[in-house]
Amino acid sequence: MKTDVTWDLSDLYAGVDDPKIESDVASVKKRAEEFESKYRGRIAVSDLTAATLRDALDEYEALLRDEQKPSAFAYLHFSTDTTDPARGALLQKMQEAGTEIATHLIFFDLEIGKIPQETYDRLIGDTALDPYRHYLQHQRALAAHYLSEAEEKILEETANSGPRAFGRLFTEITARQKFRVTVRGEEQELTQSEILALLYDPDRAVRQAAAASFTEGLKEHHHVLHFIFNTLLHDKAVKDRLRRYAEPEEARHLDNELSKEVVQNVVEVCVENYGVVADYYHLKRRLLGLDELTHYDRYAPILDTQVEISFDEAREMVLNSFRAFSPQVYDITEPFFSKRWIDAAVKPGKAGGAYCSSVSPDWHPYVFMNYTGKPRDVMTLAHELGHGIHGVLACKQNLLNFHASLPMAETASVFGEMLVFEALQKTLTDPKEKLALLAEKIEDTFATVFRQVAMFRFEQAVHRARRAQGELTVETVNQLWQTHMQEMFQDSLRLGDDHAWWWLYIPHIFQSPFYVYAYAFGELLVLALYARYRQEGEPFIQKYLNLLAAGGSDSPPNLLKAMDIDIADRAFWQGGARLIRQMVEQAQELARLF
Ligand SMILES: [Zn+2]
Repeated sequence: MKTDVTWDLSDLYAGVDDPKIESDVASVKKRAEEFESKYRGRIAVSDLTAATLRDALDEYEALLRDEQKPSAFAYLHFSTDTTDPARGALLQKMQEAGTEIATHLIFFDLEIGKIPQETYDRLIGDTALDPYRHYLQHQRALAAHYLSEAEEKILEETANSGPRAFGRLFTEITARQKFRVTVRGEEQELTQSEILALLYDPDRAVRQAAAASFTEGLKEHHHVLHFIFNTLLHDKAVKDRLRRYAEPEEARHLDNELSKEVVQNVVEVCVENYGVVADYYHLKRRLLGLDELTHYDRYAPILDTQVEISFDEAREMVLNSFRAFSPQVYDITEPFFSKRWIDAAVKPGKAGGAYCSSVSPDWHPYVFMNYTGKPRDVMTLAHELGHGIHGVLACKQNLLNFHASLPMAETASVFGEMLVFEALQKTLTDPKEKLALLAEKIEDTFATVFRQVAMFRFEQAVHRARRAQGELTVETVNQLWQTHMQEMFQDSLRLGDDHAWWWLYIPHIFQSPFYVYAYAFGELLVLALYARYRQEGEPFIQKYLNLLAAGGSDSPPNLLKAMDIDIADRAFWQGGARLIRQMVEQAQELARLF
């Protein structure tokens, strides 16, 4: 069930040709030049004062804020029609402008890194720096991996014809790809989102045909997609060597402000619990009445009839469950619908997937998704709106503290999904329907926790293999992918050979190495938080909203410490995994009722 809901970006700009885009960018460029001539050589000095550093940070923050609007517009506008050359050109132009601005600003973070230690120690406790202390501390940690300013400039300028260009090529190829498939006697030409939605079809023949067509499509482009992947793997290896990162994941951990040990704990807890995945798929195989499950059965619905939910119904469900949690959360969410901040329609040329763009503390967020009417799409809507709530609550932070770091970035989104799931579950009385919904929730949770951990382990293996062996054949990558994904299912489901190609469309693997573990971190974290909400009720809500309002003003360990959570404690993560096991046990019990 499709929708024609599209967003209205005219409050940002009137369109690609709006002259305001040009003048806004020009003004930021000019201010960046002035900032450079004013502060270059004045930061990394032993007689730096807290007042000077504060002034510089205020100006820096303000100009980054003003840079967000045109670049966000270019990206949002491009993603709803990636085949429009004018939108592609604007995006490219904004990237180039961003680079030009960045070349004037690069010196600043570099100088923060080079403030003599004695001076830094003297200044960092000064109250004038309160709003930027976390930023300064994080920059000092990153600074250990910076190159010289001239080198940084070259890397920034050449990125547009290097890794960023390859990333864009990946997006353009996958977005304009069409997949031919015959569904119930009717030949169709579908986009990536549409064909992937068919994997949720109750008819096995439809799922099989969709999977086969999808594989064919990926194979058709595998030469160029695989070339892009090899190039990006090599690019990362080079950058990591130059920046003195010992391991492929190290830069991501540093960015995330998480220690290797904490991440290792989360990953190990997940791998130890792969048995939960196997238990569930054994149950699912019995419920589907199949001898063996394969990759296109993973998302098969438990019920023969597929529930379709209109976008209007989805909106009501989301708003009602958010209101039941907190009227404040409802008030934040409602304008997303009434003021058209959501683009949900499926259109040719529109990019796949979903995201929420928070733009800046001065602006409201936008939600992008492809709504096909499946219950899962309702969860996606709740997920992206959760991000939106996070963005609105954090808007009292300055821009440098605004965005939650990646591991915390999924907190509000997954929590939003939980709220909608519970509300949906309460509306059902038939055990069969209850089970079907629970099965969807379990599968989504698996996809967010175990699947992301399996992908993370695939990435660990593939980056290491590239560094040890040189350019990888597509067969090698296919095999690494298949091995790590199969491991999670144990003997409950056998991924077919076709599935070995299915890494070729996943944007994170191409464009944001090691991004994926943050999803597992976030989901397990939220399951544990949700358990506390059930226990504590009302008093929890304000603490939780305070956590969101803190944005990225501190590191994840510190933000969570304020909620009495110690993320170094393995038992805490096991608590999250236990909730997943309980959901599977609940599914097993429901299955006994019929
Ligand atoms: Zn998300």
